Amino acid sequence: APLDAADGDLAQQLDRSHVFHSWSAQGTFAGLAIAGGSGTTVWDFDGRRYLDFASQLVNVNIGHQHPAVVAAIREQAEILTTIAPATVNLTRGEAAKRIVSRAPDGFNKVFFTNGGADANENAIRMARLHTGRDKVLSTYRSYHGNTGAAIVATGDWRRVPNEFARGHVHFFGPYLYRSEFWAETPEQESERALTHLRRVIESEGPASIAAIVLETVPGTAGILVPPPGYLAGVRALADQHGILVILDEVMAGFGRTGRWFAFDGYDIVPDLITFAKGVNSGYIPVGGVVIPDAIANDFDERVFPGGLTYSGHPLAMASIVAALDAMESEGIVTHAAEIGADVIEPALASLASAHPLVGDVRGEGVFWAIELVADRGTREPVSAATMGRIKAGLLERGVIPFIQDNRIHVVPPCVVTADEVGQAMAAYDEVLTTVERAGQ
Ligand code: PLP
Repeated sequence: APLDAADGDLAQQLDRSHVFHSWSAQGTFAGLAIAGGSGTTVWDFDGRRYLDFASQLVNVNIGHQHPAVVAAIREQAEILTTIAPATVNLTRGEAAKRIVSRAPDGFNKVFFTNGGADANENAIRMARLHTGRDKVLSTYRSYHGNTGAAIVATGDWRRVPNEFARGHVHFFGPYLYRSEFWAETPEQESERALTHLRRVIESEGPASIAAIVLETVPGTAGILVPPPGYLAGVRALADQHGILVILDEVMAGFGRTGRWFAFDGYDIVPDLITFAKGVNSGYIPVGGVVIPDAIANDFDERVFPGGLTYSGHPLAMASIVAALDAMESEGIVTHAAEIGADVIEPALASLASAHPLVGDVRGEGVFWAIELVADRGTREPVSAATMGRIKAGLLERGVIPFIQDNRIHVVPPCVVTADEVGQAMAAYDEVLTTVERAGQ
């Protein structure tokens, strides 16, 4: 029988009693119980429909329940549900081939992990083994995952209670709206952020640094599209000192920016690429590292000291093959670029001109942030209480928002339609009006 309101109540009751949640004070945790979904829409057990403008955790790029991906998982489950990593598996080879075919020349291998954190964990391990160096540089405005090195490479508050891995150093990346460098133009921000990075490298001892880890477009930290020349400048500094560049494409990759890899839009080729989320839209947990020959060859004779029971799990592999094939044949990545440029960007520009609360909007593809301020002059962020009211108001209006600090991230699936963008924008507009009328 289809699930009904009683099932929703049971889900909530079991959750309260037995489920321990991520990044939450358990006593105050409250979550929606979602019964099903399709495309950009999900619904609860009472049949209330919501537009998922968070893509859950910015990972459901292909939309909910894409039939080809669901069918591929079902078919693979009937053939071979699980197999050890130290076996040869056709679906795994097909998935790896599809990933490297989108990477720059010379990237021919993939190490599969369970998600994004362990992708970064293993990329950092490879960089240390390849260079024989120890330190890892990353930015304060970053999130790289919740495991040993990845959480300490992370810049945001989540690092601080977890600082047990060693050899990590942080620096400030560019963020013109809240510049650390007194910059007033994107060019100044880029140049000054590079000078700062150069000074950090020199001060840490260039020969001790294995890698610089960067989100190509920092996501959770605010969708901080890099200013002109910044990534090329990082590449040049790294080359000068024999440092590897690891680009974390976990959130930005596989369609989110309107490109297969976000770095395709910038003048940089990384040394290692990490991915997860959009590669299969999270239908089965998976991530990985895309490895160039120059680093993969290190382990031709020498054993790679890393592995996972579920590396290259067949269900995950089948979902990658089907998701990437559907994204290609249905033009989903191109659609993300077009809907971003033609529909989301102008809609956010008019939202910004209508609402004094909006301090800044930025992004590309289906990867946008609306930054809300109490005062446009001082750029003081709106309060957490205001953000709570905005979140509740959007849910009431049938939009699942992605709220982070003083920002709404506009991050729907890549398949979102112009009509759905219009509905979400109307909800943002109404909620901002209500909050402004109430004097925030
Ligand atoms: N890297 C980035 C840029 C992310 O946004 C995330 C998750 O949000 C991760 C890594 C960690 O991925 P996972 O949660 O799959 O371990």
